[in-house]
Amino acid sequence: MVKENYIKINEQMPQGVRLIAVSKTKPVELLQDAYDAGARLFGENKALEMRDKHQVLPEDIEWHFIGHLQTNKIKYIAPFVSLIHSIDSLPLLLAVEKEARKNDRVIPCLLQFHVATEETKFGLSLDEAIALLNSDEYKQCTHVKIAGVMGMATNTENRELIRREFRTLHNYFLLLKKNHFAGDETFREISMGMSGDYDIAIEEGSTLVRVGSSIFGARQYNIPVND
Ligand SMILES: *Cc1c(COP(=O)(O)O)cnc(C)c1O
Repeated sequence: MVKENYIKINEQMPQGVRLIAVSKTKPVELLQDAYDAGARLFGENKALEMRDKHQVLPEDIEWHFIGHLQTNKIKYIAPFVSLIHSIDSLPLLLAVEKEARKNDRVIPCLLQFHVATEETKFGLSLDEAIALLNSDEYKQCTHVKIAGVMGMATNTENRELIRREFRTLHNYFLLLKKNHFAGDETFREISMGMSGDYDIAIEEGSTLVRVGSSIFGARQYNIPVND
């Protein structure tokens, strides 16, 4: 089923929108099925799980880190991660900078914004993001590249609310582009949309959608453990 699901959803991606197969909690056999169907972008939210899967799966996979990232775990993914979607503070960005430097690479990152009404979702406000971008510490960074924005909409049946939140994220992207990244072709990603709302996200300008359960089936969560 994973192959069919991936192919069906990937066919719905318009030009300029890339599909990330969110494979967190899923065994490598299922990732291999998605790979065989053409998937090359995978999303994970635990550093050690992502490192372990990276070690056994094909080299041409782009690994996208989409979860809350603890600074002491960055070292596990810094050698190979393609894009960290979840930068929500200056200290985290500086910690990524440090690990990227050790690995002699530049790590692309997205600023994660809080656009949902739920209190529990991580993310920056627009003011916090602007303060980060104006800080001397950020300006001295040479091993991280901010490539765009990421956000999650409220988990709700209210599709108009979801649409408004995605529109807000798109507007943040445009504002930052104009004031902080004018003429910078590499600031171009808007990561938004999951299984339940990727159609709306695409209509509102998403460039990266992150789809898990519609490809791999519902996740089984056990009692949380440290990754
Ligand atoms: C799990 C997760 C997804 C995918 O969610 P589905 O509803 O299973 O498609 C997308 N983005 C983030 C940040 C996630 O943690």
